[in-house]
Amino acid sequence: MSSLPHGYEMVIGLEVHTELATVTKLFCGCPNQFGDEPNTNVCPVCLGLPGSMPVLNAKAIELAMRLGRALGCEVRPSVFARKNYFYPDMPKDYQVSQYDKPINVDGHLDLPDGTRIGIERAHVEEDTGKSTHMGGGGRIHDAGYSLVDYNRSGVPLVEIVSMPDLRTSEQAKAYAAELRAVLVATGVSDAKMEEGSMRVDANVSVRQPDAPFGTRCEIKNLNSIRSLGRAIEYEARRQVDLIESGERVQQQTRHWNEDDGRTHKLRSKEEAEDYRYFPEPDLVPLVPHDDSIAAIDDALPRLPAARRSDLAAAADVAVADERVAIVVDRGLDDLASGAISRGADAERTLTRVVNDLAMDGASGIDPVDLASLISMEAAGDLSSSQAKQVLAEMAESHRSPAAIAEALGFEAVDTSELESLVDRLIEANPDEWQRFCDGDGKMQGFFVGQVMRETKGQADGKVVNGLLQQRRG
Ligand code: ADP
Ligand code: ZN
Ligand code: MG
Repeated sequence: MSSLPHGYEMVIGLEVHTELATVTKLFCGCPNQFGDEPNTNVCPVCLGLPGSMPVLNAKAIELAMRLGRALGCEVRPSVFARKNYFYPDMPKDYQVSQYDKPINVDGHLDLPDGTRIGIERAHVEEDTGKSTHMGGGGRIHDAGYSLVDYNRSGVPLVEIVSMPDLRTSEQAKAYAAELRAVLVATGVSDAKMEEGSMRVDANVSVRQPDAPFGTRCEIKNLNSIRSLGRAIEYEARRQVDLIESGERVQQQTRHWNEDDGRTHKLRSKEEAEDYRYFPEPDLVPLVPHDDSIAAIDDALPRLPAARRSDLAAAADVAVADERVAIVVDRGLDDLASGAISRGADAERTLTRVVNDLAMDGASGIDPVDLASLISMEAAGDLSSSQAKQVLAEMAESHRSPAAIAEALGFEAVDTSELESLVDRLIEANPDEWQRFCDGDGKMQGFFVGQVMRETKGQADGKVVNGLLQQRRG
C-alpha cells in the first residue's frame, strides 16, 4: 500500500556499501579493524604515497564471490578501475573500484513476504578514510577545522546495487534487513550499521502507477534502518508536493538530516563529477576459476530465506508469519524446530521463543529441555509465568526444566484444590462476586489476584479465569 497522496507510488533502488570481514585491508597488510587509535593502521599503500604498489587480498575476493553467489549472481571476470576525484580522506585522489566489469552481476534477494528484488551488480572497491568536522554541528561548512583518520582507508568494500524494484519504504527497510541477514549468515561482513560497516544510499522517485519512472534523487549514507525508512518517506512526499505544485523534480544527491527529519540538497546532476574512470594499471584483471566458484557454492551456509521456509514447514505455519522471521533472525531456528520435532506444540514453541528468548538469546538451551518445558506448560504443570521463570533459569544453568521447577518450588496447584479455593473466595466476597456477575471487568482481576495471593503465584491465571466463568454460568 502506497503511503503517498494523489495515487502516487514510490520507486526505490538501494546502493549498499558493506565492509568485508577480512583481517587485513584490500591492497596492503594493515589491520582492517574498527575503533583503533586514529592513524595507527596505516602504511605507504593505504596512505597513497608515491611509488607504493597494491597487492590484492585474496580473502576479500573470496568473500565478495561468496556474497555474489548467496545473492544468486553470476560471478564474472572483472577489472579494477581508478575512479578519480579529490577528497581529503582519500589520499591517492582516486578510489580503486570496479566500473564496467564488476565481479558479480544479475542476482536477486527475496524479501520475507516473498517479493523478489533484482540485484544489478555487487562490485569490489576500497573504502576511504574518515573525516570528522570539528565545531559547527559536525557539518563541513561551519566547522572550525577537520580531522582525518586513515585507518579506514583501503578497507575492502562490496557495493550492492539493487534494481529499482522496491515500491514502499517498508519494502526498502525489509530489503536492507534481509541483506544484512545474508551478510551476517555468510560471514561476509558484520554489517553493523551503527559502526558504518553497512551504509545505505537510497534512490527515490515517484510516479503514477504504470507511468514511466520519474526523475530520482539519491539520499546518501543512511546509517540505520529507521533513518532509511524516514528519509524515503520524506523524500517521496517532497517530490509529490513539487509535482503537484506544477514544478519538476531535479535529479540531485541529497543528505538526510536526522535532527530536522528532512533531506537537503548536496549537489545537482549538472554538478555531478566526471570520474574519468580508467583501468587500474597496477592490478591485473581477475578471472575466477569455475572450480573456485563451485567450492564457494558448496561451502555456502543455509541462507535466512531457506531457514525461514524450513522453520515454517516444521511449525506448520505460513512463511510470512512474523514469528518465523524473528526466530531465524535471532538464530534460534535450530532450537525451535528441534523442540517441535521432539513433540513440543509448535504454536507455543514459536511464541515462547519469540517472547522470552529473542531478546536475551538462548545459549546453551537444549531442544530436548525446551520441548519438555513446553509440554509441562501445555499439560498445566506450570503456569505461563512459571514457565517464563523456568526458561530464564534454563538459559543460565544447564539443568532440566523439571529440576528447576522443583528447586523453585513450582508444584502445579491441583485443579480440585483450585476449585475449592475459588468457591471459598466467592463465598467470602459476595459483593465483589455480584459485581463480577453483573459484568464488572475489574472484578475478574480481583478474584485472580486473590487466588494468586493464596497460592503464592503458583496457580495458572487461565485456569482460574476458566473456573470463574464456569461458576458465573
Ligand atoms: P548511476 O549510473 O548513476 O549509478 P544507476 O542507473 O546505476 O545510476 O542506478 C543507481 C541506483 O538507482 C540503482 O539502485 C537503481 O535501481 C536506482 N534507480 C535507477 N533509476 C531509478 C528511478 N527512476 N527511481 C528510483 N531509483 C532508481
Ligand atoms: Zn596500509
Ligand atoms: Mg550505475
